[in-house]
Amino acid sequence: MTKSRTIGTKEYEVQEEGSDVFNIFEEMYPKCEFYGPSKAEGAKFKIIKIYPNVSRTVAARIVRANARLKLFANVDYVIEISGETWDSITDDVRKILMLHELNHVYVTYKKDGSGKLTLKDHDVQDFMSIIKEHGIDWFANLGSTMGSLYFEKEKEDNPDFVPNIKL
Ligand SMILES: [Zn+2]
Repeated sequence: MTKSRTIGTKEYEVQEEGSDVFNIFEEMYPKCEFYGPSKAEGAKFKIIKIYPNVSRTVAARIVRANARLKLFANVDYVIEISGETWDSITDDVRKILMLHELNHVYVTYKKDGSGKLTLKDHDVQDFMSIIKEHGIDWFANLGSTMGSLYFEKEKEDNPDFVPNIKL
């Protein structure tokens, strides 16, 4: 179902339709803020699960394709997911993480009315829409999962240690 490639110390699993990750993407896509026919219809995503991780502190991230990638690989955005972390969290947390990444997608409008796909940083509103619906437990859960996976030593020295994770 998924193609896997190794580059250096990392393994890249491109998610195909029907994979668990892709199913969650499809479920959350209509719920993201930019979704709608007038906004970013036809935006193309590639989703890649990376083992062991994107980095020890990055749960997932979204990258906008540059002009060449867009042209030759027919993709607008790449969502990279840290594999070990993804495999250690519940479906509920996976869904919110996916929604978070999708909420980075942003459309700016040109004078002629056509839309241009961009990315936005976190702002209060971006977090607020998720916090309103899902609270903050999912985020704490993610932090403690990544703490257990990658920061055992730090946690031994300080039981309250929580890594400063990014997504
Ligand atoms: Zn983010």
